[in-house]
Amino acid sequence: MATTIQKPRGTQDMLPKEAAAWQYVEMCLRQACTRFNYKEIRTPMFEHIELFKRGVGDTTDIVSKEMYDFFDKGNRHIALRPEGTASTVRAYVENKMYGETDIQKLYYMGPMFRYERAQKGRLRQFNQFGVEVLGSFDPYSDAEVIALAMEIYKTLGLSQIKLVVNSLGDSESRCAHREALINHFTPVIDELCQDCQTRLEKNPLRILDCKVDAKHSVMATAPKIIDYLNDESREYFDAVLAALDAMEIPYTVDANLVRGLDYYNHTAFEIMLDDPTFGAQTTLCGGGRYNGLVEQLGGPMTPGIGFALGIERVLLALEQQAITLPVTNTVDVYMMPLGAQTKPTAMKLMHELRQNGVSVETDYQGRGMKAMFKAANRANAQFAIIIGEEELANGQCQVKNLVESTQETLNISQVVTYMISNK
Ligand code: ATP
Ligand code: MG
Repeated sequence: MATTIQKPRGTQDMLPKEAAAWQYVEMCLRQACTRFNYKEIRTPMFEHIELFKRGVGDTTDIVSKEMYDFFDKGNRHIALRPEGTASTVRAYVENKMYGETDIQKLYYMGPMFRYERAQKGRLRQFNQFGVEVLGSFDPYSDAEVIALAMEIYKTLGLSQIKLVVNSLGDSESRCAHREALINHFTPVIDELCQDCQTRLEKNPLRILDCKVDAKHSVMATAPKIIDYLNDESREYFDAVLAALDAMEIPYTVDANLVRGLDYYNHTAFEIMLDDPTFGAQTTLCGGGRYNGLVEQLGGPMTPGIGFALGIERVLLALEQQAITLPVTNTVDVYMMPLGAQTKPTAMKLMHELRQNGVSVETDYQGRGMKAMFKAANRANAQFAIIIGEEELANGQCQVKNLVESTQETLNISQVVTYMISNK
């Protein structure tokens, strides 16, 4: 036998037995977007690397270590997209969507790629769902975005969901905070990891997000951005919180929440599973405001806010909380032709049923009636239609209701109408 080829590290096969759950989650995501009036955008899965690596302050793990990039045959430096915001904003600018009268409320869903150390809940190809609101700098739009994210977990039936919010302020506030951070960390920088030493110069805020040094005592006493917010930023943040209060969405303010990407300002938030038994990857969703990004990508000054959530982590959380989704895994009819002569009629009837919205399965392995009934059972069929040679001669068939264990003889010509009204 030839050696088997296995899937690359950090990837997953989504198997048919899991498909119904995936589709259900995706349906909930789309329905939430419909209720909040967000429209779908689909962008390519690969982009020019410059879209993600923009030079200034590339201190995030995503850009500095996790990029899945390569040179294509035309020697273009390409990256598989690690996240959706940059691509969405690129499309917004490229397609001049800023020229439209209304603000853009967009959502996307699909695979993202990061060269990470693969483990449970942390993959190299994973799926994100995210939204972006472009063109509004209104605290109520921040609150709407957060509400949408929270609504998703609620409709899926998840509990122990914790919302953490913070404000990173505007550039004036951030400058003041940056200075304070440099003063705070400089005397002890030798005790921090190599990455933090680089961060001190490039983007000291990122030190607060360091996983290696998280427990160092200097972290707890670090200056908090919230104490450096100017009046305008403070007012904005208070208005976001007031809007969350109005919707009765519970939250915790965490002054150390800084988020993984460099382009955030003002509102930042994360949604976590507040359950110590869940495992290491408890962050389900992250988002925030990025008022400078559109401009950075060559568009006019346009404020933006959004979030992204990991779909695999949603599924893990559902599993952890033993939530059974209301997914159906059934077929209406299992067609049972008995004998070769009956097959063309069975095939014709099956095709007509399908054309009329009835779902039908049949046997293609030459099985006998007993085995076909077992297969019908496994397929969760509601009805079996049995066409024997004698019945066929009379233009008839047996229709067995497998749920109620009743059986009747019908004319084959009546079956479609019967099934439409009885399935
Ligand atoms: P983490 O701190 O867990 O690395 P992050 O800050 O890199 O998260 P974001 O870039 O904010 O994550 O992505 C938003 C969400 O996407 C995360 O909260 C998580 O649910 C999901 N996610 C991120 N990276 C992965 C991954 N490698 N595998 C699976 N899901 C992921
Ligand atoms: Mg990460």
